[in-house]
Amino acid sequence: MKVLVVGGGGREHTLVWKIGRSPLVKKIFCAPGNAGIAGLAECVNIAADDIDKLLKFAKKEKIDLTVVGPEAPLVDGIADRFNEQGLKIFGPSADAAMLEGSKGFAKKFMGRFDIPTGTFQIFSDADEAIEFIRDMGAPIVVKADGLAAGKGVTVAFNEEEAIKAVKQCITGGAFGRAGHRVVLEEYLEGEEATVLAFTDGKRYLTMPSSQDHKAIHDGDKGPNTGGMGAYSPAPVVTDDVMQRIEDEIIRPTIDGLREDDCEYRGMLYFGLMITDSGPKVIEYNVRFGDPEAQAVLTRLKSDIVPILLACAEGDLSGAEVEWSEDVAVCVVLASKGYPGKYEKGKPISGLDKAGKVSGAIVFHAGTAARDGKIVTSGGRVLGATALGADIPSAIERAYECADAIKFAGKYCRTDIGKKAVARLGKG
Ligand code: AMP
Repeated sequence: MKVLVVGGGGREHTLVWKIGRSPLVKKIFCAPGNAGIAGLAECVNIAADDIDKLLKFAKKEKIDLTVVGPEAPLVDGIADRFNEQGLKIFGPSADAAMLEGSKGFAKKFMGRFDIPTGTFQIFSDADEAIEFIRDMGAPIVVKADGLAAGKGVTVAFNEEEAIKAVKQCITGGAFGRAGHRVVLEEYLEGEEATVLAFTDGKRYLTMPSSQDHKAIHDGDKGPNTGGMGAYSPAPVVTDDVMQRIEDEIIRPTIDGLREDDCEYRGMLYFGLMITDSGPKVIEYNVRFGDPEAQAVLTRLKSDIVPILLACAEGDLSGAEVEWSEDVAVCVVLASKGYPGKYEKGKPISGLDKAGKVSGAIVFHAGTAARDGKIVTSGGRVLGATALGADIPSAIERAYECADAIKFAGKYCRTDIGKKAVARLGKG
């Protein structure tokens, strides 16, 4: 088989790594890929959102399966375009991708199908939104309606902060068209967790739980990022909680999509708050999370390719999936300044040593090759990922791996996985 992976970050490196272990696969292309991916796949210089060129390439190369990493091409209809041409693709239709493409759409969908989530109102008029904030008080959550690369959410602990966020979105143009409408949402208290599920639109297979670390600094302080680390499983998702997530959230979501004729053949991401009254949806994503993919897919023992194919072909009934009992931890190494401005082009050393740490694997996120050397080329640069028999040993290995890597301005959180340690009473 020939497989095309679309994207060029840590999530795509993880997908390429896992797909490359399948005996069914003869050749992998990745568009555009990165310096780490280049060791496993042929990188093609096509942007992840250039659907016309990707389609042309897939036809020319007779690609048997395309796997889409990022959300933007899905929202723009890449799956529909490929399906129209009879090309197999892992990813939802544009209609279904609106679950991520519009927070307002997702909230209304959850309302119609009784899926637990925070109460909300949608506004496109700043004055009306401000009046609502004055009525409701803080804390309150302000969300740009459209895609904002994970940066469109403000959890406001006082009214002024919320009003500022509304103004930035609606009148300030902070997120362009994505911010012209805002969702104002009830603040949910609890611990966050992620559950991913493969689906063919009818059936689903859940993956083990995980937990992301969105804030830039230790203790969940500072601005939100694309994700500074993850671990799997998340002990906050006990067996009972998982059952409720399946019964109250996953099954109704998949049935709801079907009822709405939104074709979904891919992976559905449930960002959850585990509250005292049960799990509630914070957000849907229509693709693997990054860095949750690193923590979850390293635990997948089965060949991923038959599962991806079964989703793309619309029949998961025969698919089998087996998970490792090991715990996985991914520590993201970022460039100094991220998620604000940062410099690129810093030479990276120690990758060989890092890769030799027991149970560890380094996934590249923002790297490039220059004059035979690997250099930084993004805010999130690498994901030092490790498996261990329990969470403390996985954390130790992931940090040993992270410490072996050097580049100017390297930054990482030092508390990835600590919440799991605390919850399990081992810390
Ligand atoms: P989102 O992009 O919707 O996942 O939001 C980014 C982050 O904001 C989440 O990971 C949460 O930490 C926080 N957040 C979003 N919505 C809520 C909410 N309703 N209550 C509390 N925190 C929230």
